Amino acid sequence: MNMITNHMPTEELRALDGAHHMHPFTHNNDLSEKGARIISRARGMTLTDTDGNDYLDAMAGLWCVNIGYGRTEPADAAARQMRELPYYNTFFQTSHVPAIALSAKLAELAPENMNHVFYANSGSEANDTNIRMVRTYWAEKGHPEKKIIISRKNAYHGSSMGSASLGGMSFMHDQGGMPIPDIHHIDQPDWYLEGGDMSPEEFGLERARQLEKAIHDLGENRVAAFIAEPIQGAGGVIIPPSTYWPEIQRICDAHDILLIADEVICGFGRTGEWFGSETLGIRPDIMTIAKGLSSGYAPIGGSMVSDEIAAVIDNCEFAHGYTYSGHPVSCAVALENLRILQEEGLVDRTRNTSGPLLAKAWHALGDHPLVGDTSLVGLMGSIALTPHKESRAKFASKEGAVGLICREFCFKNGLVMRHVGNRMVISPPLVITPEEITAFTDRARLALDLTHKHLVDEGMMKAA
Ligand SMILES: *Cc1c(COP(=O)(O)O)cnc(C)c1O
Repeated sequence: MNMITNHMPTEELRALDGAHHMHPFTHNNDLSEKGARIISRARGMTLTDTDGNDYLDAMAGLWCVNIGYGRTEPADAAARQMRELPYYNTFFQTSHVPAIALSAKLAELAPENMNHVFYANSGSEANDTNIRMVRTYWAEKGHPEKKIIISRKNAYHGSSMGSASLGGMSFMHDQGGMPIPDIHHIDQPDWYLEGGDMSPEEFGLERARQLEKAIHDLGENRVAAFIAEPIQGAGGVIIPPSTYWPEIQRICDAHDILLIADEVICGFGRTGEWFGSETLGIRPDIMTIAKGLSSGYAPIGGSMVSDEIAAVIDNCEFAHGYTYSGHPVSCAVALENLRILQEEGLVDRTRNTSGPLLAKAWHALGDHPLVGDTSLVGLMGSIALTPHKESRAKFASKEGAVGLICREFCFKNGLVMRHVGNRMVISPPLVITPEEITAFTDRARLALDLTHKHLVDEGMMKAA
């Protein structure tokens, strides 16, 4: 097959997919049996599959299509750039206009002290860069033993060896010998599932102070950095209690530990500011960026670096880089994406209009008998499913079984909502309209009703 066509029958496409395509984060034999849904086009927040079914994509792909699907401007920018200069590298004393222009633009948008960017092609690669950069920073400052990076359980920082080691997904660590040395994990600030009888505020402090204890136990002279997502995304859209981040910031400052904010999801408007760090009042030294940087129209990621760290790194030869660091086509697409976000006021719209509108509809789902909790910041949110609201009980069934049932009911009713364990998570495109907010939350309620009925019928409304 040397032409891509949407006109092949779905069954033939599925057979070829099953025979030759190994999907990420997928049990491929199970998938072959069921057959993949094959998405052939998309506009705004609506996906269409090869059978002509439409779905409202409440996930913006994988949390990335902030400007929505089907915009022609990034396509035109990519075509223009490919004709002009399809590729050149930024190693060995060379540069090119798209990388220069994007870097200047990012410096303008990022917090005041962040004026430098090191490019990668993904969030995973950028976090691998961060591991080496913070260790190199301390070595250059005469502290080569300051190497340990503290992260959190159930964090997601990517899927390469380095970034998955930073991440705290134990089912990933079980495959392939992770974590790599000198990574340490503390508990996450998930009050709903782990807070017990504590108030959210007490719990936030308790979890933040695990960082201080870890620094103490490991030795301040050995700890290089702490990395965290301002709001955990893939872990289930976990919004930390209000006490958490100020305490983390205090601890990093007090102990001379660098703070890396992984903004791969939170960045570029998702939380109603350009960066989640602004929404949560964090002052990071490095920010990981990807996803919304190009709205997924081309692969690109990077590390935004503070003046202070850049000054140290720039003073040595940092022996690191990717063939496609600052790829001209990706940079041109990212620039166009940022122009759209800015000129169409999509960040302000998220903060002032669509965020509050979605919040109303989303929190209204809290009255549903299956829903133990609803949370939302900007346009990222979650719903925790429970058999017993008052006690925040877990289901007796296998972790995630109920979430999966709900996700399938979403698909059947024209809605893409992902499940993380028994949480349903959303991250719709920032171009979402009021009508789409109503349509998608109506479908979410329908899926919850169908899930509830199914659980009652199957005797699955049981607490663990
Ligand atoms: C998706 C994600 C990554 C990894 O990005 P890739 O582009 O998939 O490598 C890293 N950090 C966070 C917070 C993410 O959500």
